Order: sequence, then structure tokens, then C-alpha cells
Amino acid sequence: MLIDVDSITKIYGKGDNAFVALDKVSLGIKRGESVAIIGKSGSGKSTLMHVIAALDRVNSGTISFDEHEYESMKGAKLDQLRSKKFGFIFQQFFLNGRETVLENVLLPLKIAGVSYGQRKKMAMKALEEVDLTDKVNNRATDLSGGQRQRVAIARALANQPEVIFADEPTGNLDSENGARVEDLLFRLNREKGITLIIVTHDDELAAKCRRRFLMKDGQLTEVKKK
Ligand code: ADP
Ligand code: MG
Repeated sequence: MLIDVDSITKIYGKGDNAFVALDKVSLGIKRGESVAIIGKSGSGKSTLMHVIAALDRVNSGTISFDEHEYESMKGAKLDQLRSKKFGFIFQQFFLNGRETVLENVLLPLKIAGVSYGQRKKMAMKALEEVDLTDKVNNRATDLSGGQRQRVAIARALANQPEVIFADEPTGNLDSENGARVEDLLFRLNREKGITLIIVTHDDELAAKCRRRFLMKDGQLTEVKKK
């Protein structure tokens, strides 16, 4: 298993306000798989993605990446895991509108400690993958929604991650741009073997993933293909 999640619990708040967002969730993900997490709003999908991506801690249970257990890792090690092995794509893009496309893609590489010359090369390569080399010097605000999401994908790709986490990656896009983003994600999965973990409301997108999991009231079950 590349990612091993064993009986994790995540509780928000304390005492009377305690809310169990993840209730003994287990799942294993192999390298190169594509996994969809579906379910109603508020069911715990983003919470699950955040803890697997080491953006947040669990209350009990264990999560490991490549046999390395998160709870036994120091903060700096987890930061390294995130910045070297993971890429993130969110519904709201989270681009800096005042900065150029290139600067937005460079940022995570800077955080990961990559030298300037190297990060420029890596960023340009990622922008080539998403077909945006003609926009590198445009400000992010000057792009369409579909183009912005492709910048976000380039940013997620720039560090050559092993896993891409995407939370509603097509949620703010029209169907044409959504389809383009989907095609791009699955091409990365096929051609580069990047493992995809996608949170989505979109049944068609979920159907394209090799495995699907349904989140309901903090509990996860696998949905088998008919
Ligand atoms: P989904 O992504 O499926 O819409 P979330 O994982 O965002 O669901 O949220 C699951 C539940 O946990 C929701 O009821 C939400 O209100 C609650 N929740 C999420 N984040 C927090 C937080 N930081 N503090 C308290 N409750 C939270
Ligand atoms: Mg969510």
C-alpha cells in the first residue's frame, strides 16, 4: 500500500461541542490508483482528504505513506512529505491574482527549497503539461476559470508529486473546462503513474476513477462497480 489509513477518528471541538467528523475510517490506496471520494456536503470528505494529505492531525488511528506513519513523524518531516510527494488542487484555485502565472507555479517549489534556476525549469515544464506556456507572464486574474484551474494543476504538478489531492477540482467550471481538467488529471495518472485522490460531487468524474468510496456521516464504504 502507498497510503494506509487504519481506523482513524477525527473530532472537531470539545465536550458538548464535540463533533465526530471521521468515525473509524479505514482505506488502503495503491500506487497509481485513482480514487474518488463521494458523498453529501458535510459528510466528512474534505476532512478525510486533509488528514491523508497531512494538512491536519487525527484523534486516533493511524495513517502511513510508504510505511511512514504520520504520528511518529516530526512536523518538519511531514512538511517535507507534503512539499515533495504531494500536489494539491482545490475548487477555489487559491492563486495569487496579482502575481503572474509563472510566479504562482514557482511558489510551492520555493517552499520546498528548490533553487531558482531549477524551479524555473520545473515550473515551465509543468506549464507545458497544461498547455499554458503562452500565459506565463499574464497575471492570474486575467485568466478564465478553466485556465486558472490549469495553472492550479501546473502548480500541483511542479514538484513532480507522487499523489495529487483534488477537492472538487471541477466544481467551479463549466462542462467543457471541467472535461479538459478531468482529461488532464487522468492523463497524469496513466502516463506518469501519479496517484489521484479526488473529492467530488460529480458522478461522471467519480465513475472514471478506478475505485469509489462513499462518505456518509463520517463513515466510509467502498462502492463496487456494477
Ligand atoms: P464535506 O467536505 O463532505 O462537505 P467536511 O469534511 O468539510 O465535509 O466537514 C465534515 C463535518 O465537519 C461538517 O459537519 C463540518 O461542519 C464539520 N467541520 C469541518 N471543519 C470543521 C472545523 N474546523 N471545526 C468544526 N467543525 C468542522
Ligand atoms: Mg468539502
